[in-house]
Amino acid sequence: MNTHHYLRHTITAALPYANGPVHIGHLAGVYVPADIYVRYLRQIGEEVLFVCGSDEHGVPVTIRADKEGLSVQEVVDKYHQLIDAAFARFGISFNIYSRTSLPVHHQTAQDFFKVLYEKGVFRLQESAQFYDEKAGQFLADRLIKGTCPVCSFPDAYGDQCENCGSTLSPDDLIQPRSTLSDAPLVKKLTRHWYLPLNEYEAWLREWILEGHAQDWKTNVYGQCKSWIDQGLQPAP
Ligand SMILES: [Zn+2]
Repeated sequence: MNTHHYLRHTITAALPYANGPVHIGHLAGVYVPADIYVRYLRQIGEEVLFVCGSDEHGVPVTIRADKEGLSVQEVVDKYHQLIDAAFARFGISFNIYSRTSLPVHHQTAQDFFKVLYEKGVFRLQESAQFYDEKAGQFLADRLIKGTCPVCSFPDAYGDQCENCGSTLSPDDLIQPRSTLSDAPLVKKLTRHWYLPLNEYEAWLREWILEGHAQDWKTNVYGQCKSWIDQGLQPAP
């Protein structure tokens, strides 16, 4: 029995994306180390909740659905079941393995948004975004490809070049094109709500870099410090 302190631990690990199976690299790099730590805490008598789940939202799921000729729901059902079963067979001892598509997660995410919205925190901005007229939709950065301005790789994504690792925006790409159709890209006005992170820079700097400097892994601290030092931007 542990008597020197009383702590409750919530442990989580990166949510696997439900657009493919987990592979041995994910297990070795993420879930086995977390599981070892959780089992250690349980053995010494600590109270632990080990929570994880499939990430079933976002663009890669829609791209996978197009590739497999399935609906988005069919894709996330298929891979959630595969991933869940793989973790169980591998003996990863989650207390809860959930999925982001459950109503409780939608409700919680909407509550965050609504509270901030009602406080008038967001800045509404119109901006011109790439639009595919044949597909009839605005294109997320991942759905745009073009030539990398840094290394000339012809298949760079609108958010990143996988050849040289540069972070990009779709406007950086040379000859940007849609991955959904062969229609030429046009720009259309759309509305977005921005969280003005720039207005919170002072206390974020204090809280992350000074108040909790010892709590982060070196690379996490370094990444946050570089973002804050460059000046935070409103986040869509
Ligand atoms: Zn590149």
